[in-house]
Amino acid sequence: MNRGFPTYDWKAAPEGLVTRRQLRARGLSPGGHGPVAQLRCRKCLARPGRTCTRMAWLYRADLARPKRVPTPAQRRALERAMDARRTCPLCRIRYEFCLPLRTLGSCWPCADPHPATARSQALAA
Ligand SMILES: [Zn+2]
Ligand SMILES: [Zn+2]
Repeated sequence: MNRGFPTYDWKAAPEGLVTRRQLRARGLSPGGHGPVAQLRCRKCLARPGRTCTRMAWLYRADLARPKRVPTPAQRRALERAMDARRTCPLCRIRYEFCLPLRTLGSCWPCADPHPATARSQALAA
């Protein structure tokens, strides 16, 4: 708790002051400015004398900026990175989920030294 900041009770914050969560819900970010006040949590509303330990920061809505939206190029780079994490470097199969490449280094069938089905089928063929 910072005594230098104005403190408001839950739902009693003045118009124009919003929590980070409220900013996020509107697709906004503080836009570089710091909190200007703090908000006591909902539980403390029933206990006014209590020192709130779960204070939320309040930001000025008028200073908030739209959250940075990734450019098409950034989104493509992101998709490429996702592809790399979903594609097995050994069998080149692309999965619908991320592979444990950092630990296994490949997909599960490739990492399993005793493939119950896949390899024995391949040998039988
Ligand atoms: Zn509280
Ligand atoms: Zn594989």
